Amino acid sequence: MHITRSKSLFEKAKNFIPGGVNSPVRAFRAVGGDPIFIKKADGAFIYDEDDNEFIELINSWGPMILGHNHPMIKEAVIKAMENGTSFGAPTAREIEIAELITNMVPSVEKIRMVNSGTEATMSAIRVARGFTGKDKFIKMEGHYHGHGDSFLISAGSGAITMGAPDSPGVTKGTAKDTLLAPYNDLQAIENLVAANKNEIAAIILEPVPGNMGLVLPKERYLEGLRKICDREGIVLIFDEVMTGFRLAKGGAQELFGVTPDMTTLGKIIGGGLPVGAYGGKKEIMEHVSPAGPVYQAGTLSGNPIAMAAGLTMLQYLNSHPETYLELNQIGSKLITGISNSLSKLGLKYTINHIGSMYSLFFTDKEVFDFTSAKNSDTSLFGKYFQAMLKRGIYLAPSQFESLFLSIALTDDLIAKIIQANEESLKEIL
Ligand SMILES: *Cc1c(COP(=O)(O)O)cnc(C)c1O
Repeated sequence: MHITRSKSLFEKAKNFIPGGVNSPVRAFRAVGGDPIFIKKADGAFIYDEDDNEFIELINSWGPMILGHNHPMIKEAVIKAMENGTSFGAPTAREIEIAELITNMVPSVEKIRMVNSGTEATMSAIRVARGFTGKDKFIKMEGHYHGHGDSFLISAGSGAITMGAPDSPGVTKGTAKDTLLAPYNDLQAIENLVAANKNEIAAIILEPVPGNMGLVLPKERYLEGLRKICDREGIVLIFDEVMTGFRLAKGGAQELFGVTPDMTTLGKIIGGGLPVGAYGGKKEIMEHVSPAGPVYQAGTLSGNPIAMAAGLTMLQYLNSHPETYLELNQIGSKLITGISNSLSKLGLKYTINHIGSMYSLFFTDKEVFDFTSAKNSDTSLFGKYFQAMLKRGIYLAPSQFESLFLSIALTDDLIAKIIQANEESLKEIL
């Protein structure tokens, strides 16, 4: 595999862009080697600047659930472009997409469009604070909610201690209002709630976290959080930027039957264009400006081109529920094949899998929270990543990411991935 052009582009990029990339994981730091610069994508394939072809399992970190460059979405974008690219004024299409989302995700009664998942979670926390009049919130270790200051907090020394900033530039003042709990541990939440009685505005979490690798909720965990929030008057926020419209048309909340007070959305919602959104119960969302006093605004929010792409995507998913069955089948076939090779070759592994998301961890211990995720052999993962890449399979360049499948994966392509997986495992053994 030649990557000469990608290599020289990366060298040049580093002169003008910090680390050569516009988002850190793209730099391949976690797996070694140089990043590949992409020229185009179509269906299940991406093509790099050296004209290598890859089957890829990232799908732009989720949005491309129908595969890349889908003709329907492309057409919607081109058609919308003919009427101008931005107005900064309300449009009919914004009502259409808002109404559709409230139908697909019933816990969302009112919704506000923004431009990224980061904006969605930052705004949701502000609204939860404005609504409850409380300052603190609980987040789970290893969950990612974008790069807003108050979310960049690492594990503190004990469950009840204040968080410490995870990045320079996040102040201690900001960090002190973020309380941390391990995922899948209801007792830790009870302890935090008891130690911060009547001070907690919200609990925010990825109901099915995908940003420490994929991890699944234990039985009755999400229900348990719902009960605590009801009892304590805490706003329960499901960050479904990743899981929304992916695990089901109504997201993880539909699949697990647990209803949050607020939901944040992103990724699939924009059909590949930059869109995020936050919504929830009417009584909470009525606090958002100009209906209420909590300020939040956006020059390009509800952008007509982005709304055209998002609306087309969501309309398709809403009217084709069989898409999710298809994705489940694709996921099962792939995971079965991959697991067979891993077992046959005697590797220590754990695969966490749900629908069209999965992660392979090189550990034989259960992975159920951030600490157990960190048990896995990341240097072996780096070798596995490179071995797969060499064979034309582009995985997420980090152990601590989920993979995302699309309906563009045919049986033939699944067989190719399974074969590349077996060869790669033999190479790294
Ligand atoms: C990707 C992601 C975000 C951040 O979204 P951006 O559009 O990258 O700002 C927030 N929460 C979750 C769960 C995500 O996966």
